[in-house]
Amino acid sequence: MDRRTTVLTRALAPVLAAGVTAAVVAGAIGASPAAVPAAVPATAASGVVEPASVQSAAYTTAVSAARSTTPTVTVIGTGGTISAIADSRSSFTSYRSGRIAIEDLVAQISPEIGEVADVETIQFGNSGSSGYTIAQFHELTAVVEEALETSDGVVVTSGTDTMEEFAYWLDLTVQSRKPVVTTGAMRPWGALDENGEQVQVFGTDGPANLYNAITLAASQATYCYGTVLMLNEEFHAARDVTKTSSYRADTFQSREFGVLGWIDGDNIKVGRAPARVETCDNPERWATPFDLSTVEASDLPRTEVVWGYQEAGGEAITAFAEAGVEGIVTAGTGAGGISSAQRAARAAAVADGVTFVSTTRTGSGSVYGGGEGVIAGDDLIPQKARLLLLLSLAFAPEDPAQVLEWVTSLGNPEFETTAPVAGTAPGQGKA
Ligand code: ASP
Repeated sequence: MDRRTTVLTRALAPVLAAGVTAAVVAGAIGASPAAVPAAVPATAASGVVEPASVQSAAYTTAVSAARSTTPTVTVIGTGGTISAIADSRSSFTSYRSGRIAIEDLVAQISPEIGEVADVETIQFGNSGSSGYTIAQFHELTAVVEEALETSDGVVVTSGTDTMEEFAYWLDLTVQSRKPVVTTGAMRPWGALDENGEQVQVFGTDGPANLYNAITLAASQATYCYGTVLMLNEEFHAARDVTKTSSYRADTFQSREFGVLGWIDGDNIKVGRAPARVETCDNPERWATPFDLSTVEASDLPRTEVVWGYQEAGGEAITAFAEAGVEGIVTAGTGAGGISSAQRAARAAAVADGVTFVSTTRTGSGSVYGGGEGVIAGDDLIPQKARLLLLLSLAFAPEDPAQVLEWVTSLGNPEFETTAPVAGTAPGQGKA
């Protein structure tokens, strides 16, 4: 079977049912994934009767090209557990990260990976994920962009602890429509035997994750999806995914939204698409405003997160504001609630020009409303809202209305579900 099969099916059903017709997906692939795109019948609101495809010439061209040539994929290593050497073959939790170079990791899944793609490697760093700075994130975007000038896709390996932040940062800043896939591992890759030779840790997920991530990037199945996160045979939208367990292999979840798709052996199954896919044929609309080539790392403002809980003090907010922090995300209780001390501190900070985004600490669900200096973060989780606020403040430092628009539209993209006006182009997603 074709390794790079792409089938869009299940999760697009609600979109069809909601009345989006040719704007989002188009009809039948049937037995042959190459048979794209065809029109969805106007009566398709009853549900999916057959597999559908992204209606985009650019998407179709990218997927077809990946089938007829051997794609080039650049793997950028940054460290994490996937690069770790454990104390022994059975040491799942005791290990040192950053001990194996990315070139060696790729060599250890060769020659098989050579059947999938021509793979190049770049060692960006080799350490735990949470040690990376925003300035290094800025540099990582540039390295990814440069790699995509000559490669068909990029895989970034990182530690899983903040992989969702690596992924969302890249999702918000990489201007190329080509696939970017982040991956890593929950178990260390190897251990050293009594002769100092490297052996694999029992059941390590690193080799399979790396192999699948390169396969996914090579397939172009996520062309125009922005950055996706691939682990445990599943891939997720950068915006939606979060780490939910410190040790479990199925740690990454997208809660209300669910996975984008999964990889079963040679089959790549794509179940849903991020809303920005709708603008795939319009690169300028597809790209976010956050072109980092126009902004120095040193100009990126500090933004922080403050947690809400019973009788939380306001001092953290006050201290951040006094330290020059320009944006603060509150991870509030329930639908975004914060304590009275925090509210008082927030009001004072807003008066001093600090911008707030209100989110929930629950891990899912929306926060609505907002007000003077306070933007409702909807269903963005706090650490994602913080990155979006940071970039919005960097690109519109003197324009609160623009920051509000970016945080609420880029942060919460939706499919257009209103009927297109006769004679106009099909509706476009907000992001
Ligand atoms: N501590 C590791 C990290 O760098 C965890 C991991 O890679 O899974 O995030």
